[in-house]
Amino acid sequence: MSDAVGTLQAIQDTDPEVYAAICAEEERQREKLVLIASENYASPAVLAAQGCLMTNKYAEGYPGRRYYGGCQNVDIVENLAIARAKELFGCDHVNVQPHSGSTANMAAYLAVLKPGDVILGMSLAHGGHLTHGHKVNFSGMIFQSYSYGLDRDTEVLDYEAIHRQAEECRPRMIVVGASAYSRTIDFPRFQQIAQAVGAYLMVDIAHISGLVATGLHPTPIPNADFVTTTTHKTLRGPRSGLIMCRAEHAKAVDKILFPGLQGGPLMHIIAAKAVAFKEALAPEFKMYQQQILANARVLAQEFLRLGYRVVSGGTDTHLFLLNLTNKGLTGKEAEEALDAAGIVVNKNGVPFDEKPPMVTSGIRIGTPIVSTRGMGESEMRQIVSFIDRVLQRPQDTQLHQTVRQEVKALCEQFPIFYSYQPASA
Ligand SMILES: *Cc1c(COP(=O)(O)O)cnc(C)c1O
Repeated sequence: MSDAVGTLQAIQDTDPEVYAAICAEEERQREKLVLIASENYASPAVLAAQGCLMTNKYAEGYPGRRYYGGCQNVDIVENLAIARAKELFGCDHVNVQPHSGSTANMAAYLAVLKPGDVILGMSLAHGGHLTHGHKVNFSGMIFQSYSYGLDRDTEVLDYEAIHRQAEECRPRMIVVGASAYSRTIDFPRFQQIAQAVGAYLMVDIAHISGLVATGLHPTPIPNADFVTTTTHKTLRGPRSGLIMCRAEHAKAVDKILFPGLQGGPLMHIIAAKAVAFKEALAPEFKMYQQQILANARVLAQEFLRLGYRVVSGGTDTHLFLLNLTNKGLTGKEAEEALDAAGIVVNKNGVPFDEKPPMVTSGIRIGTPIVSTRGMGESEMRQIVSFIDRVLQRPQDTQLHQTVRQEVKALCEQFPIFYSYQPASA
């Protein structure tokens, strides 16, 4: 293949402004400590597949049944992506064409629901996602949506309360899954609730799909009618989505995704998904996910030891929320001070937060990226000490500069294209 195909050199030659922004972004990702729970650093092979010339191909339809000629090669990658996703998750049927997690969710709803039907999903304010029925999102506009939340004292899902709520609002579909919930979700219990009220069960594992794929979080596949996910969070693939379902819903899912919701699939992204699924099937990927969990546990324990409030008191996953109310700080202030010190987190509402979403009382912390870079428990202790120093003196710009240099020095030891190797190897 020609050397000029898809290289950064070609961008520099054609468009120096975009090239400069890409270089600055590479530097940012390299020099800062990114603890955003929904992000990850994809491998060189995944990035290369995303930048490849399969973007040039129209392939409306599905492998072997396309509306365009010339689909021999893209059929190969889509079939590989399908076979590997099935092996990874053990599902009856998978559609690898959703452009994003949101599109995958839209397809799961519209495969069996009609506009105006009732859905019951987790409240955004308690850790759910916009696409689970929020009023500003299509899911809340098209459907009559109700939301469930967390118990005020334990800050975990209260299954009894959710069951009672389902009895009252009688949803056609119950939506499970979260963007900011640190505890194991009981999928069999949700299946019971759905069966008791005659609802479909949809589980969105966008955040935890890497853990689910490696058996480190229980899988919802046996319990749910539909399972959706993004592919770019813990799963560490390209920015995209996936929808899995029981065999009985296969036709409806494929038909609503194309021609119902999308046109031509992004074949370069599907190629990248195939590559990512192959990486996720390798034994090292499970060790990587174990490191994500170990790192999150150490971070949470260290914060607790220093008197921070960890929502629900700990974590079973790759993330947790810090409630900063007792530290006299808002999420917004913490996010800004930390960014100045080279540490990237996002402000996040905590359960029963009294501050508006642009301010919030907390921050969300996740370990997919630091684990991809090869950091372990001792680096996590260092990170907590960086964060604690900054949050104790959030206005001290001198201190921010000092910590920023220390962060940079730590990051220099851990490349962004690290491919996880266990310490013993
Ligand atoms: C990130 C996320 C999504 C949305 O994914 P996009 O690819 O950004 O559309 C959907 N559901 C949950 C639970 C998420 O965390």
